Amino acid sequence: MMLKLTVVKNNMDISQIIDPLNKAQRQAVCSEAQNTLVLAGAGSGKTRVLVHRIAWLAQIENVSPYSIMAVTFTNKAAGEMRFRIENLLKTPLRNMWVGTFHGLAHRLLRAHWMDAKLVENFQIIDSDDQLRLIKRIMKEMGIDEKQHPPRETQWFINDCKDNGHRAEHLNPQEFHGREFMLDVYFRYEELCQRTGLVDFAELLLRAHELWLKQPHVLKHYQQRFSHILVDEFQDTNTIQYAWLKVLSGNNLPDTHINTFVVGDDDQSIYGWRGAKIEHIRDFSRDFNAGASTGKKVSETIKLEQNYRSTGNILEAANSVIANNSDRLGKELWTDDSEGELLQVYKAFNEIDEANYVASQIEKWVDNGGKRSDIAILYRSNAQSQPHEYELVKRGIPYRVYGGLRFYERAEVKDALAYIRLATNRQDDAAFERIINTPTRGIGQRTVDIIRDAAKNNQQFLWQSAQELIESKQLSARAATAVQKFIDLMDELDCSTQSDEMSLSEQVTHIIEMSLLKEFHGKDNSERAQAKTENLDELINAVKRFDDEGDPLLEAVKESIQEMGNNDDEVLTNPMSEFLAHAALEAGEGQADEWEECVQLMSLHSAKGLEFELVFLSGVEQGLFPHKNALQDYVGGKLEEERRLCYVGITRARQQLHLTHAENRTMYGRSEMAYPSQFLSEIPADLISQVRAVNNNISSFNSSSYNKSSFSAYDENEADIAIGQRVTHKKFGEGTVIDIEGSGARARVQVSFDYNGTRWLMLSVANLI
Ligand code: ATP
Ligand code: MG
Repeated sequence: MMLKLTVVKNNMDISQIIDPLNKAQRQAVCSEAQNTLVLAGAGSGKTRVLVHRIAWLAQIENVSPYSIMAVTFTNKAAGEMRFRIENLLKTPLRNMWVGTFHGLAHRLLRAHWMDAKLVENFQIIDSDDQLRLIKRIMKEMGIDEKQHPPRETQWFINDCKDNGHRAEHLNPQEFHGREFMLDVYFRYEELCQRTGLVDFAELLLRAHELWLKQPHVLKHYQQRFSHILVDEFQDTNTIQYAWLKVLSGNNLPDTHINTFVVGDDDQSIYGWRGAKIEHIRDFSRDFNAGASTGKKVSETIKLEQNYRSTGNILEAANSVIANNSDRLGKELWTDDSEGELLQVYKAFNEIDEANYVASQIEKWVDNGGKRSDIAILYRSNAQSQPHEYELVKRGIPYRVYGGLRFYERAEVKDALAYIRLATNRQDDAAFERIINTPTRGIGQRTVDIIRDAAKNNQQFLWQSAQELIESKQLSARAATAVQKFIDLMDELDCSTQSDEMSLSEQVTHIIEMSLLKEFHGKDNSERAQAKTENLDELINAVKRFDDEGDPLLEAVKESIQEMGNNDDEVLTNPMSEFLAHAALEAGEGQADEWEECVQLMSLHSAKGLEFELVFLSGVEQGLFPHKNALQDYVGGKLEEERRLCYVGITRARQQLHLTHAENRTMYGRSEMAYPSQFLSEIPADLISQVRAVNNNISSFNSSSYNKSSFSAYDENEADIAIGQRVTHKKFGEGTVIDIEGSGARARVQVSFDYNGTRWLMLSVANLI
């Protein structure tokens, strides 16, 4: 009835929006309720429904894209969603807000920095930077790192923020011997506020406070948005949920804002980062404003048909997740055929496992399959290494998401620190990172003097350094070196917008003048070459950013103008914009979608994605489920691991391989491994056990096998192999994890059990 009326009203062809949907999906897309929850299993079309809902709103209900906000889980998903909607509507949607919670919060805070009580050029710091600051504070407070690992305090601070608690809200009496954590939290807040630094959790907390403390800003956005849509709703944390609740007009009984959220309780995998599965349960109760608008207040729609996977894959997923308790309960079914059996491969070790995976990939490609349809998924990022070796060896192009995060590599972070300090002299974290990188003769003692002076005088390091030189409190040598650094930074200043140079020209200039390429590339090794290439890649990233910009910028501009603010004042300088972009993108790696390559990623990053051929690698007890979950006697963590397994299995469309090894070397330690309990939760008749290809390796000698697997060095020359246990006179026992070069230049990288990871010249290391 409603469909017909609308068609007549708008005289428009809606088939593109409606035809590709089943009945339940259509019901969701056209929902007339004020608040709609789509609760549905993996691959049942939740994301599709969200996209089509937006198209429906824009085209049929005449909702302006300006009034729509859509929240996705990654920046990549946001880009894809925008692309798909634009494709459906055949029109660009510049002024629609689509982004992650963090991305949207960042954009709001940039636009309203003054109302949010931030400095204009505030910088986003990643969790590494955050940990460094916390360590520094703990050191100043004389707290022993060994007794109280700074990571625990970092976790505590983020957890408080995720739950909306500032230090001032907490009761010291509840700390029982850990009062110092509260003290660190206070100091950390003060330091960040003073130096204009904002961590990820702070973005969300501030954005929530912006609603609560600045009613005029909230009112503007409540008037602006008529529809808020959220994908992957099961993974919202407390502060995100609260932010949505306030924005959606929970305080207004007659709000006009419609909410539409889609999620799957079985795919909630971020409990460890504060996500609350309960939000799905609470949604209908909490999002109930608007009762007086005459609309149905809320509606829950279930989608149960899966369009992604074969029958066997789906049955395996259903069987595994059935072992969890307290589910909201939904069965997935498919019209698709049973498809192939799931292949389970028992490998000798992780190298054999990588070998199997790579040979299956070759087979797939030989049969005409595309590489970009393949994913290798793992529980822990460290597992990517053996797969990478094997893929490189066979010349199979691949991309890693997450693992080796581009913006987290040392050389890239060095360059970013130069850019940060060039943009904002108050950035102490950046100052500390680069004052002696590349080495310019400034010792730790000098840095300590500068830091102490800054602390005593409540100054930024930059200021202290200058004053210490002027007042001749540094030795002549140190003063000259520090002065040189200051001069260099003055030359690189980009705190104001440059009219002469583009963003990428500025960054190129900074990288050149910093001599970082010479510093990181000095030893001519492959590793050094990769580092200099990464610095070039950073320049490319800036160019891309320069060309594409940030789509949210356009959207927010209109709001700012409407609120009567001066546009130029609010929109900060492009270099700060790029730095924020780099920080927010950090978690998503450098994958180029258009390249024909195999995708490697953690199970967590695979959420929402799908591939024809999937390898779940390392399906072993203690690795997956993770050992922390096995020690959790309450069982909540094990259930979250099981949901992760469900997410992994349901990424596959046609073929799924699960691999586990009998022996695994990780972090330099070799251990026996046993199949995961999740494997036994898959019905045996869905599984085909794959035999080892090379049967005569039954009495397996790991070092000789490893040796034959790698051609990166000349094995005739060096009697050493990756994975081999070695002993060094000074550093003790360890495991060889990499070998480079040959002859007199042969080098090995050894992960020592108690002395970190080191590169050693083979000819002089005297390894036994
Ligand atoms: P996840 O829980 O993994 O996020 P999802 O529920 O969001 O999955 P989608 O990614 O939207 O599911 O859809 C899964 C696959 O099924 C996609 O390839 C999608 O194009 C396809 N699909 C969804 N609905 C239909 C339909 N009605 N007809 C045909 N294909 C469909
Ligand atoms: Mg989805």
